[in-house]
Amino acid sequence: MSDLAFHQFICRSDNYGLLLHDHKSGATVAIDAPDAAEIEAQLEARGWQLSHIFTTHHHGDHVDGNLALKDRYGCSIVGPRKEAQRVPGIGTEVSGGQSFLWQGREVHVMDCPGHTLGHVAYYMPSEEVVFAGDTLFSLGCGRVFEGTMEQMYHSVAQFAELPPATQLYCGHEYTQSNARFALAVEPGNAALRQRAAEVDWLHAEGRMTCPSTIGAELAANPFLRTGSAEIRRTLGLEGASDAAVFAELRERKNSFR
Ligand SMILES: [Zn+2]
Repeated sequence: MSDLAFHQFICRSDNYGLLLHDHKSGATVAIDAPDAAEIEAQLEARGWQLSHIFTTHHHGDHVDGNLALKDRYGCSIVGPRKEAQRVPGIGTEVSGGQSFLWQGREVHVMDCPGHTLGHVAYYMPSEEVVFAGDTLFSLGCGRVFEGTMEQMYHSVAQFAELPPATQLYCGHEYTQSNARFALAVEPGNAALRQRAAEVDWLHAEGRMTCPSTIGAELAANPFLRTGSAEIRRTLGLEGASDAAVFAELRERKNSFR
């Protein structure tokens, strides 16, 4: 049981907005701030006041709303120490391996270099929930812009260590196109075929495909399945390391249409 309400919505075109509201204290945190006006409208509709923003990384579609929201609500912004200069309005710098309390709940910070060098994820064990930003998506993972493939492989692999019931919230609604790629590399995976069908149905209904769970991703997300014999066969990398399989998957996804 929890006093925490989750409210997720799509903003910009495919960014997820996410608000967590603690009924007891009245505090509300936004996970990233893609769009100030949209976040403000969602807060207003619920009578919530924004007290915090947890920033995952410095990309504009994750921090563009920071200053306007800070101006309007005086909220505190938590973000990655390694890219603090690029996170507007940052007040509290955090890095991987450290934990802090938010409304009495522990929040573990995970370092996730690869998409950006300072990217962090936030894991809240009491709520069985992780906010992965642009590191891990449902059925996919983020592009490797700043780090190396090897770094991104390790960043993504950390999520496999979380309890399978953990709810995965991510930065973008990319699941349908991720599913097409996943099916191309592991067509024999029954769990993946089932998830892909569910995703098509959700899309047709105009609904969101996240949160997913770590358990569901372990069963279907190729970037967490580098040990799969079928994926390795498809790539012609039977004897390769997991990191090499990961890198090949990411390269192929970059040019997949
Ligand atoms: Zn990004």
